[in-house]
Amino acid sequence: MSAKIIDGKAFAATVRGKVAQHVASLKDAHGITPGLAVVLVGEDPASQVYVRSKGKLTVEVGMKSVEHKLDADTTQADLLAIIDQLNTDPAIHGILVQLPLPDHLNEDLVINAIAPEKDVDGFHISNVGLLGTGQKSMVPCTPLGCLMMLRDYHGSLSGMNAVVIGRSNIVGKPMAQLLLGDSCTVTIAHSRTKDLPDVVRGADIVVAAVGRPQMVPGDWIKPGATVIDVGINRLDAPERGPGKTRLVGDVDYDSCAAVAGAITPVPGGVGPMTIACLLANTVTACCRANGLPEPEGLTA
Ligand code: NAP
Repeated sequence: MSAKIIDGKAFAATVRGKVAQHVASLKDAHGITPGLAVVLVGEDPASQVYVRSKGKLTVEVGMKSVEHKLDADTTQADLLAIIDQLNTDPAIHGILVQLPLPDHLNEDLVINAIAPEKDVDGFHISNVGLLGTGQKSMVPCTPLGCLMMLRDYHGSLSGMNAVVIGRSNIVGKPMAQLLLGDSCTVTIAHSRTKDLPDVVRGADIVVAAVGRPQMVPGDWIKPGATVIDVGINRLDAPERGPGKTRLVGDVDYDSCAAVAGAITPVPGGVGPMTIACLLANTVTACCRANGLPEPEGLTA
């Protein structure tokens, strides 16, 4: 194995440390505590785990954490009323509605009801438009975390060929916009892309956000390329005991690490950066709301 392992877990701890420092200085100098509200509808076990861990880390960096846990049959009107109340609450600077929502709720409508300046997930149509036109926005957390790791590893990304596999609104598209913003030459690949292996072989940077376990093999990777694996897939792992599972990414780690110059592992790569960037976005939103300078290095 030759690739340098990009340690997302350690990098995320550094980002959270910077957030904590900024939160402390906001409190000391201005008496302001950034506040993050998370809204969870229903009892999806994975979502419950995410929300718990977001709440814990929010408190750890010194911010105020508010959780709204709503029944699975909450009506759209009731959910919108809560968002409305959070939109006007001056103690709340970031609002996150945990996705997916139950089927009877209109996700687009709910996300677009969040005040754009408090939309710390960066999914509001205004933030999508601002990002697409190169203006200051709230940037989706997962691609922001990938960008931070790439900038940290490479310094400048200017002129590099980047291939993003996946065109979702939450990862692939904003990732491509961010790489374009850093002057990469960007290709977005998806399920209809012809000759995907050849497309990927041209990349200095590969970001895999597909949702297919270990789909990208090492022989698609240009020697020395940087591989960012966004995928989180759970596979059965009977070798670990009955009913046990293990997490794998969208790239085949061993074969890719043998040829790549650098690679993020799963777990311990992109995943921890996502929550760290949520906290970073909240402190950025708080600074903007109060007309204060934004922390350095915590946004795109
Ligand atoms: P998604 O909405 O399902 O999008 C998957 C994308 O992959 C689609 O654009 C799809 O193309 C493309 N695709 C599917 N099969 C393909 C194939 N055989 N060849 C090329 N492209 C293919 O997924 P997502 O929400 O972006 O998430 C992607 C992965 O990242 C998942 O494993 C998810 O769990 C993970 N994730 C991780 C984090 C984190 O914090 N680390 C955050 C979010 C997501 P079409 O558009 O043509 O269908």
